[in-house]
Amino acid sequence: MSMSEEIKRNETPENLPALPPTIQMAKNFVKAVAKHVSDGLKKVAFDQYKARLEVCNKCPLRLKNRCTHPSCGCFLDKKAWWASEDCPDDPPRWPRLNS
Ligand code: SF4
Repeated sequence: MSMSEEIKRNETPENLPALPPTIQMAKNFVKAVAKHVSDGLKKVAFDQYKARLEVCNKCPLRLKNRCTHPSCGCFLDKKAWWASEDCPDDPPRWPRLNS
């Protein structure tokens, strides 16, 4: 079996985490945007952004650029910038914000 066949075989849908249902993701997104707006659209520092994404890159709930947690479904490269956001897992996996 070639390397590409091996990769394809290991990326079958049953091996991958699934995104929440679309309606749930829409609700989660609306909530996240409302929080972000009421937080004054604040962003985290670049170091904090990178630290968040490093954690996501090792997380079993990540699916490419998406978080598949039932309370999320967000695009990680966008969500990780927003100071109002946190990792939805319990306990949250992201490093605490420097204050
Ligand atoms: S936000 Fe949290 S649960 Fe989602 S992929 Fe990142 S570390 Fe995992």
